[in-house]
Amino acid sequence: MKKAAKKHPPTTLRLILGDQLNEQHSWFRRKEPDVLYALMEIRQETDYVKHHIQKVTAFFATMRAFAERLEKMGHRVVYLELDNPANGQTLPANIQALIKEHRCTRFEYLLPDEYRLDQQLRELADGLPVKTAAVDTEHFLTNRQDLERFFDGKKRFMMEPFYRMMRKQHQILLDDEHKPLGGKWNFDQRNRNAYDGKAAIPKPLLFKNSVSDIVHMIRTEGISTFGHVDPERLIWPINRPQAVKLLQHFVNSQLKCFGTYQDAMTAQSWSLFHSRLSFALNTKMIHPMEVIREAIHVWERNTKAIRIEQIEGFVRQILGWREYMRGMYWMLMPDFASMNFFELHGPLPDYYWTGATRMKCMHEAIHQSLTQAYAHHIQRLMVTGNFALLAGVDPDAVDAWYLGVYIDAVQWVELPNTRGMSQFSDGGKVATKPYVASGRYIHAMSDYCGECAYDFREKTGAKACPFNSLYWAFFERHRNKLASIPRIGMMYRTWDKM
Ligand code: FAD
Ligand code: SF4
Repeated sequence: MKKAAKKHPPTTLRLILGDQLNEQHSWFRRKEPDVLYALMEIRQETDYVKHHIQKVTAFFATMRAFAERLEKMGHRVVYLELDNPANGQTLPANIQALIKEHRCTRFEYLLPDEYRLDQQLRELADGLPVKTAAVDTEHFLTNRQDLERFFDGKKRFMMEPFYRMMRKQHQILLDDEHKPLGGKWNFDQRNRNAYDGKAAIPKPLLFKNSVSDIVHMIRTEGISTFGHVDPERLIWPINRPQAVKLLQHFVNSQLKCFGTYQDAMTAQSWSLFHSRLSFALNTKMIHPMEVIREAIHVWERNTKAIRIEQIEGFVRQILGWREYMRGMYWMLMPDFASMNFFELHGPLPDYYWTGATRMKCMHEAIHQSLTQAYAHHIQRLMVTGNFALLAGVDPDAVDAWYLGVYIDAVQWVELPNTRGMSQFSDGGKVATKPYVASGRYIHAMSDYCGECAYDFREKTGAKACPFNSLYWAFFERHRNKLASIPRIGMMYRTWDKM
């Protein structure tokens, strides 16, 4: 534990969690000599699920850079490395020890985004012999309960009306009469094309952060991780200047094709026109409104080169989906985490941990997840997620994999996307129908099938694409739960004819 200077004994201990690295927070506007900021690397967080090595490394590297930044800004900081003998390895143990050691009379924490941590800190705060306060992170555009209030009394919780309300509330992409720019709220129909090679795919901006000390520590401390990391070249942004650089790279080189190819998949590129900003956003190094405003600013100066559907498609992800998912999480937790609408109990196939499968689409999505800790949305949803649901994998196992494997995986956003959108385990709260598809969809949206050991056209036989028979078997198996869903009924008429 780094000793905080004794000159001004701190009276307030302020906790900053690993995904609360928002240097623009009002806490940091003034230097307060009687405040001690605490950040800690703890086994409680490394061990609750098995994480990708890049994820643990990137979080620790970013936390360390943030602590240094705060010190440079003149704040008093105590940072507990994972291998520090004084580290009690849980939030309660460390906070209680710090309060005692520094004779603090007050404890403040930023509201956690995970239910688990929220409960833990609430209980801890209740039992502490000092005054306590929970403070907003000043990151999101909605409060935890805003979405629940928005849908109060409604039976369905669709993203679209929420998104439109957000556009109006924040005056985003509206004309003088408060109508949507371009005459429509949604340009999805013009977007979501397969990659046709008409636009060159820009090279992703990859940082070369040296993290060998952290990787060494993780290994020596025996933390169980998986996946690949290059200790001399961690590609993810670990501080705010890098996060801003990544944003600039996106708006200047990828935004112009973002919407068009947002659902495309190609073996030529692992990130296509996606921003890869999710880690910077989820650690709060960068603010969602900052991202939206910067993208709109660049679009306004280049409306000939960047069409409205590109910027609308991007804004929708952050202003719409991201806030919506967070609201759904708080609305449905804690029951959400154990929902299992289809009563699935199958194991996750071994190749999710190795990529060793002859299905080219699965191999590509899993292999890049293991090497880069990243897959873009449609790979997560329509390849690995689609397969897990069709194959009847227990949503607990699916959740654990998604929570471990991605650089951006934090439960408030992972869970509604996995258990809700992808696995339909909530029975249709997040999605109106299960996101399942046969080999034909993957063929239409990717160039994977051409190089596959299986044939996307075949439904039976040794060469048949596994997605096909699994797809129809899924509908047959769950007829009693699905046939009454309006958008699904048609599938049964086709199946019955077949
Ligand atoms: P872009 O395609 O460039 O999109 C821009 C930003 O929009 C993202 O950075 C993200 O902040 C936001 N966004 C886009 N789609 C979503 C969405 N569905 N929900 C919330 N925000 C969205 N996202 C996470 O941040 N963490 C997760 O753990 C996570 N798990 C997922 C699991 C599954 C099964 C699925 C289907 C999706 C998951 N997503 C998750 C959502 C989405 O896939 C990622 O946000 C996105 O792929 C991140 O890459 P990007 O930054 O290049 O995104
Ligand atoms: Fe995937 Fe089937 Fe296409 Fe092979 S044929 S890449 S398994 S969709």
